Amino acid sequence: MARSALLSLLACALLCASVPAARAAGTILPPLDDAVSYGADLTASGTGRTWTGTESIVARNDGRSPTDRLWIRLWGNGPKGCSPRAVTATITSGGRRGRLIRDCTAMEVILPTPLAPGAATTITLALTITAPNLSDRFGAADDIDLFGNALPVLAQRDRKAWRLPSYSPYGESWVTTWARFALTLHHPAALKVAAAGSTTTTPDPNGATATTTSVVDARDTFWAIGAMEEVQRTTARGVKIRAWSPVEAGGDRDDAAAGAASAMEEIERHLPAYPYPEYDVIVARIQAGGGMEYPTVVITDGTDDVTRHETGHQWFYGLVGDDQYREPWVDEGLTSFLEVYWTSSNSQQTPACYPSRRFTVKDPATFITSSMTYWNRHVGQYGLAYDNPACALREARSKLGDAKFTAVMRGLVTRYERRIMTGADVRRAFGKRLSSLWPKWGLAPGR
Ligand SMILES: [Zn+2]
Repeated sequence: MARSALLSLLACALLCASVPAARAAGTILPPLDDAVSYGADLTASGTGRTWTGTESIVARNDGRSPTDRLWIRLWGNGPKGCSPRAVTATITSGGRRGRLIRDCTAMEVILPTPLAPGAATTITLALTITAPNLSDRFGAADDIDLFGNALPVLAQRDRKAWRLPSYSPYGESWVTTWARFALTLHHPAALKVAAAGSTTTTPDPNGATATTTSVVDARDTFWAIGAMEEVQRTTARGVKIRAWSPVEAGGDRDDAAAGAASAMEEIERHLPAYPYPEYDVIVARIQAGGGMEYPTVVITDGTDDVTRHETGHQWFYGLVGDDQYREPWVDEGLTSFLEVYWTSSNSQQTPACYPSRRFTVKDPATFITSSMTYWNRHVGQYGLAYDNPACALREARSKLGDAKFTAVMRGLVTRYERRIMTGADVRRAFGKRLSSLWPKWGLAPGR
């Protein structure tokens, strides 16, 4: 989610009031890698708001003991809960439904026989997905229907337990590992579909409808539909940038394409290259957060800051995974550093830096490592999880020098590419010499 939308909330909320103690994330165990692939074949209603069809989920037991159940997350039910359900999923083969909890966002699947370690199984679902009437990543904006976190995905677990966090309207609850996502989307030919990964649209023989396919190996997928126009650009290294917007917003579309291309080129001067051939940028002014990242595709409100921020997430979130719910500072902080210091800004929105000695909380040295459980209830302070890590990294750069600092950041991407990186991993990579940096900025190890 974008940084700029949170900045105006920050200063007073932090310094004018004493706040209760936050709970930090504690030790984050690496998630098991159960997800193999997701395949969906969906048909749009006339407006594109509702999609019906099937999904096939292939899961492999990555644990050390048999499992008799899986959990599937229906994140699309997060904003509105159980009535009406934005996403209904009926299991048609591979198991039977158990509990439906967390406001209808977590569905238990009881397997017919326990799944042995290393063995795979397929669950098929009948789906109905309706974008809610919200100006949000799963919702609609500027007459574009947006399907972020709409497709059901496997829940995460580690070697100890299933992780079933609640939906977060301000951050992201969906911690996912890499899998192959393949979408086949049937829709009216008059409406354009933008989607994650490599996307191809083919007119159907009847002329009235078309089929868009989207394939990506990533942590999630996304699609959008509407009366959009597209503009394309190619980065110096050859990545195809596709920017989409309502027909009349051609200026915003051009700006978004240019901003995304230059941000990508600039970040690639410091970090390993973006590994996909295509990057889609959708200009839709969602009120929630200003922008939103998905792997290989983002939503931006068209402002330069948001486009650069969401492009930064292609590295920290997309390429290097993190636990956005339990450690949002890793997700948003490293991305904010990229946004502010490794891309060229048209504005001067530098981070607001608050050393932990200024916090009126119980554990100031760990405060910024709070999980979304805390920030959801203290949204006015959430900008700190974006800005303070950027301040810490800026100080790390000045202490280490540009070359060493960049080497550490590159090393993080190389080492944790396609894995989940934790805050402890980040601190460790910067070494003992900088150990005083983390408590200074409220980023000391959590409880
Ligand atoms: Zn963000």
